[in-house]
Amino acid sequence: MSRPIHAYLDWAALRHNHARVRQVANHSNIWSVIKANAYGHRVLSVARALQKVTNGFALIELDSAIALRKAGIRQPILLLEGFYQPDELPLLAKWELTPVLHALWQVDALIAAPLRLPVYLKLDTGMHRLGFTAAEFENVLARLEAAGCATSITVMTHFADADEDRGIAAQMSHLHSMINGREFPLSLANSAALLRFPESQADWVRPGIMLYGASPFPTRQSAAELDLRPVMTLASELISVRDITAGNRVGYGGTFVAEQPMRIGIVACGYADGYPRHAPTGTPVLVAGQRTRTLGRVSMDKLCVDLTGLEKVGAGEAVTLWGEGLPADDVATAAGTVAYELFCALAPRVPIIEVNQ
Ligand SMILES: *Cc1c(COP(=O)(O)O)cnc(C)c1O
Repeated sequence: MSRPIHAYLDWAALRHNHARVRQVANHSNIWSVIKANAYGHRVLSVARALQKVTNGFALIELDSAIALRKAGIRQPILLLEGFYQPDELPLLAKWELTPVLHALWQVDALIAAPLRLPVYLKLDTGMHRLGFTAAEFENVLARLEAAGCATSITVMTHFADADEDRGIAAQMSHLHSMINGREFPLSLANSAALLRFPESQADWVRPGIMLYGASPFPTRQSAAELDLRPVMTLASELISVRDITAGNRVGYGGTFVAEQPMRIGIVACGYADGYPRHAPTGTPVLVAGQRTRTLGRVSMDKLCVDLTGLEKVGAGEAVTLWGEGLPADDVATAAGTVAYELFCALAPRVPIIEVNQ
């Protein structure tokens, strides 16, 4: 018998969420963002599931991009941080990958190569992380034109506050002043921006988290309210049930102390499976389809749950850590993080079951 923890990946839900993007941003092309192993959802499987409906794939990792090409993916592929060493450039040309250029050294390397490629130019419109300033942008445009090494130029930027009160207005106006009336194809919007600010949709949108069925702004609107379905369900089982008495401490450090006699369950899921160790007592969890809470510290391989009101359940009972029936956003919020981090942290030791291919 194998350990009962599994991650289910539902490709019908993924296709539904992609259709939602299409519906919301119906004039834009869609870069399906599949960096970080498709936010923990298996990059090759996600690419195959979306191959017929999406316009392109955007990611960070060159090895994954090449694996997509070897698997027969023909759509445009965008490398969101471009390349890291000049000697990667011939691979970009060979595999027809489009780099985002965000730093002057990359422009120098491309011109020195010399190679002809479609390029994205990333502008820093206020995030102050990657991208060209207004002066650098002018310089880069002039040099690329003189060298003739860009077969096309798309302008992109990334929003710092698309999910926050501040919104995107200041960055949009900075962007337009940098573009200064010139015509470029534009790619601006992540999930939060494309849902909340239709004016940011432009030529290519770049949804990530909404494809996987979590809300980009969980405190404003739930995934269900946005008509997004969870793709990943992390499920396990109770491997033990026990009765404890008032004053009994639970787990490492005894951070939970029973106030009265109670029944608790032990779940085969811990931080070595990707469950967040910082999830405190009270983090939601489903047992036998009913919402209850975790108790005490999460261990490497197990966590404890409150079975008050669930006294009939025993070892072998189904537990959902997040996904169908329990939004990852709720677990993430309780644990002080975001669903992005939960998904990306899914550990390699958790067996994956793909459904609805
Ligand atoms: C990750 C990423 C996205 C997708 O963001 P979501 O919030 O997951 O929609 C879009 N653009 C860039 C540049 C990114 O790195």
